[in-house]
Amino acid sequence: MTNSLADHARSLDENDRLAHFRERFHVRDGLIYLDGNSLGCLPRETPAMLDNTVEKEWKDGLIHSWLDAQWATAPARIGDKIAQLIGAKAGEVIATDSTSINLFKALTAALSLRPDRGTILTESGNFPTDSYMMQGIARFSGNRIRALAVDPDALLDTINENTAAVLLTHVHYKTAAARDMAETTRAIQAKGALAIWDLSHSTGAVPLDLTAANVDFAVGCGYKYLNGGPGAPAYLYAPKRNHHADAVLSGWFGHARPFDFTEDYQPAEGIERFLCGTPPILGLAALEAGIDLMLEADMAAVSAKSASMAQMLVAAMEPLCKDYGFSLVTPTDPARRGSHIAYAHPQAHEIVQALRAEDVVADFRAPNVIRFGLTPLYLRHTDIVEAVKRLEQVCQTRAWDRPEYTARAAIT
Ligand SMILES: *Cc1c(COP(=O)(O)O)cnc(C)c1O
Repeated sequence: MTNSLADHARSLDENDRLAHFRERFHVRDGLIYLDGNSLGCLPRETPAMLDNTVEKEWKDGLIHSWLDAQWATAPARIGDKIAQLIGAKAGEVIATDSTSINLFKALTAALSLRPDRGTILTESGNFPTDSYMMQGIARFSGNRIRALAVDPDALLDTINENTAAVLLTHVHYKTAAARDMAETTRAIQAKGALAIWDLSHSTGAVPLDLTAANVDFAVGCGYKYLNGGPGAPAYLYAPKRNHHADAVLSGWFGHARPFDFTEDYQPAEGIERFLCGTPPILGLAALEAGIDLMLEADMAAVSAKSASMAQMLVAAMEPLCKDYGFSLVTPTDPARRGSHIAYAHPQAHEIVQALRAEDVVADFRAPNVIRFGLTPLYLRHTDIVEAVKRLEQVCQTRAWDRPEYTARAAIT
């Protein structure tokens, strides 16, 4: 690797307006963590937030904390904070449940708004849970509703007068390719269908404006770029015009007056109708700490640093592509991608294992992809250069041939 790249990285870090955020996270010395797109690092504030929730609000406040510590309103309050990150309005986002469950809610709500249409559509190669949730809805409907996954290039042409909704992931989990949200939404809506977006790899990574894009529903993940912790609650977005949709998971927390304990369900007027059961307060407390930290950063600066780290990574990887057979999977145009960079390599799995022994965490996605997550709040350009240096060593020694690296773990 040329020294000029390392010098360039150092000078970029010296002038980095986001540099001070790194010390707001726990990142062990020596570790280069390139997997924040899968599980974000622990913010330093989070243990104290959790401690307060446990020691004060739960231990001392007990049941009164539902009101006194604003537990009951946490999903809507945190939803309003997420709204600021995705270009939504207050009252249009709720933090709750997992992304998978929110996908079910968004899909069924969309179907309720298009009762005369019976198909829900996605692209093949989408994140599996998106397709799986669609398939479950189709099975449960006795196949009255059909779930289709079609070739990405054929997607828009497949929409017809029977398509109720199209579910797409904005930034692809494997390739990091980003769709044009406004243009695609317009094309979907022009055919009378609703546009549902999965923002799991977008929120906190790229600037978003759901209001301008006129999105119908969206969902996203709390534990990736929002640093909400393992299994953090996810969120659901619905603009006001869609708040009358049917909330099929009509649990009591989505009721207009849950504490009236009436026999029959009557949905809340606003975004709260997309709540189901009692909110997970400990998970929400950790999520809120992550989001509060993210809100301190300017999203334009976050995305600019992501682009500059990506450029550095791609430049540093060029010789390895030539010498060791890596090929770039992610689009080169920063406007058309999210915040991770993916390479294909026949030994992708073994290389990720070998990198771990060098204290570099990346991840493997079957069958042959290595993802390098670029999280601007706690990574430096020099980390990128150093990671590629360690990767080069792995390649030079063919460390991937070692038998201990070929065994597949249950979780990658
Ligand atoms: C990570 C991710 C999910 C995760 O769903 P969970 O219900 O939290 O397991 C869903 N969709 C996409 C596109 C993802 O990247």
